[in-house]
Amino acid sequence: MSLALPGELREGYRRFRQTRYQAERERYRRLEAEGQRPATIVIACSDSRSGPETIFDALPGELFVVRNVGALVPVYAPDTRSHAASSALEYAVLALQVRSIVVMGHGRCGGVAAALERKAPLTSTDFIGTWIAGLRDLADELDPGEWADPERGRRTLELRSVEQSVVNLRTFPWIRSREAAGTLHLAGAWFDIGLGELKELGDEGWRAVP
Ligand SMILES: [Zn+2]
Repeated sequence: MSLALPGELREGYRRFRQTRYQAERERYRRLEAEGQRPATIVIACSDSRSGPETIFDALPGELFVVRNVGALVPVYAPDTRSHAASSALEYAVLALQVRSIVVMGHGRCGGVAAALERKAPLTSTDFIGTWIAGLRDLADELDPGEWADPERGRRTLELRSVEQSVVNLRTFPWIRSREAAGTLHLAGAWFDIGLGELKELGDEGWRAVP
């Protein structure tokens, strides 16, 4: 059984080598020699339409990215289990000393939609069901009025999820202390796929990024 790359990826790689790599060759070589020094870690959804490097027009070396279903940040849990998002945060904050952490959700999120599909509960052996359990808890806390319009309900939960992930970031002692000292900035964002527009979490709620 072949383990070769799919054809469309091979073609994309050829385009990368011929165009972007040629244009950014010196940058890649410098990054290899000097190491990465990204200023920001972005926690984004695995959704193929919400790539942070694309949305923030970032160059190689600029963003440290962790992606998972729903763009979720778990609470600080120093146990012996494997924690993908937490280990990425630890490396970015303690080793790379990033200056910002951005949690970015997006519209039409499948992870959020799954949390709302109460009629067909996921089994206990289902990875997604376990992963998005926190989203279901958030959905339970929302005002029932939000659900009069399912579209609005989903949007509300997408935004609430980002807010909760920012709260969860502050359960990490080395994030909380750096934010208090003013050396680490936390931010929340939400991307509208169809419009290509970004909202950010301001002091008085969500607002459009100009
Ligand atoms: Zn998503």
